[in-house]
Amino acid sequence: MQFLGSSLLELITQTSTNLPPDVRLAMASALRSEKPDTQSSQALNVIAGNIDMAHADEAPICQDTGMPTFIVHTPAGCNQLALGAAIRGALVEATRLGRLRPNSVDSLTGKNSGNNLGIETPVIHFEQWEEEEIEIRLILKGGGCENMNSQYSLPCELPHLGRADRNLEGVRKAILHAVWQAQGFGCAPGALGVCIGGDRAHGYHLAKMQLFRELGDVNPNSDLAALEARIMEEANRLGVGAMGFGGRVSLIGCKIGAANRLPACFFVSVAYDCWAFRRLGIRLDAKSGAITRWLYRDPDRQVERMAAAEGFPLSGREVILTTPLSEETVRALKVGDVVLLNGEMFTGRDQMHSYLMKNPPPVDLHGAALYHCGPVMLKQGDGWVTKAAGPTTSVREEPYEHHIIRRCGVRAVIGKGGMGEKTLAAMKDAGAVYLHAIGGAAQVYARAVEKVLGVHLLEFGIPEAMWQLKVKNFLAIVTMDSHGASLHADVEKKTGEALALLQ
Ligand code: SF4
Repeated sequence: MQFLGSSLLELITQTSTNLPPDVRLAMASALRSEKPDTQSSQALNVIAGNIDMAHADEAPICQDTGMPTFIVHTPAGCNQLALGAAIRGALVEATRLGRLRPNSVDSLTGKNSGNNLGIETPVIHFEQWEEEEIEIRLILKGGGCENMNSQYSLPCELPHLGRADRNLEGVRKAILHAVWQAQGFGCAPGALGVCIGGDRAHGYHLAKMQLFRELGDVNPNSDLAALEARIMEEANRLGVGAMGFGGRVSLIGCKIGAANRLPACFFVSVAYDCWAFRRLGIRLDAKSGAITRWLYRDPDRQVERMAAAEGFPLSGREVILTTPLSEETVRALKVGDVVLLNGEMFTGRDQMHSYLMKNPPPVDLHGAALYHCGPVMLKQGDGWVTKAAGPTTSVREEPYEHHIIRRCGVRAVIGKGGMGEKTLAAMKDAGAVYLHAIGGAAQVYARAVEKVLGVHLLEFGIPEAMWQLKVKNFLAIVTMDSHGASLHADVEKKTGEALALLQ
């Protein structure tokens, strides 16, 4: 199998850097459907540019390259142990090359293995089949959308929707609730894989397996086909929109399967994937390991550009900010302002926030912009290069951020999905804002990094360390301001009202 290693590396690289055609098609349609000159359409334009950049540079579409999950079918006699070892070897190499972020963290010690290997990482499912070739499918589903998965045990009472019974109508309500509660946290517009039935554990697995269906296919079960179409139509009436900014496109796909259940159980398991819906597959010659064909791709079709032009459209009304930020500058900002940030910023996410609760910051954060980001960084000589640097979901830091704003003097918190009431109150008291970056736009933001000035607490691992970055024209939208306004609270309320109309 002399080509096996290079075939697997190519599968991982292409999955991480080149969005599949069906997802591109759905995102292009989302871009056309969205009302122009809205925050959602701006987000979709940035995303389109990001997809092109990732493909051109063979760099990760999103910095969160997810839990690598392989579905492998092998002919009789194929050595699955050797195949598993080859998959692990290719993952290490892809991580070394910066195509994947080191994403495997020991759950007891918090230590990042640095190479994407660890207990139960990667996830590999082997099955034998009657065909002569090997088939390997890979999905890279990141943490932000993984956190938005949900499971319902019917019957149940759902906010805004009332009782969900043990029938397809109850299933419909559960799925709509899942879309509504995800808001922008999982980088909407999203795609759903759903399993009706099964037990809790297998239901989630089968829901994820639905994400291997093409977005444009039609469910062979006519009842489920009708339900999928109805969910698409109704979910896109909710008004969540790209990034949860409010807008016309909240979902780009909904795929539903069913499995038998125990008489006492009726689970609806929902796997929520983000717009950066990265899954591909290959067929391999079982003797040489060479790729014989790609799945999800048409070999006669070139990869089409997503963005209408280079870069993303600016209106000229953007507010130019330079760090360190003064209280006066920050208090002048209002929800809806688009900003271009320049100067130094610091990354900080889960471990850093927890660290700052007990320790002084390693740098002075007064007037600083704190970026919720776990970048992909590569060491080059004595320095570092940013390979991918989009925002992570901010709400995880809700228990800490209000302390950090008040105690450390942070003036701008940058992330995605928005934050809660405690952070909003601290912003009002101390004079700070929340700047929403475009989730998943890891290449756009990597290009905004002019220089990596330094790194603190690297012992937390690359994603969790505090990176000191010099940025230029870092685009973000004010979604929480120092006057108590929050776009996220507004959209949640409005979409809740829209959800109630779908009872
Ligand atoms: S696009 Fe958003 S939800 Fe998806 S992997 Fe990236 S950060 Fe996570």
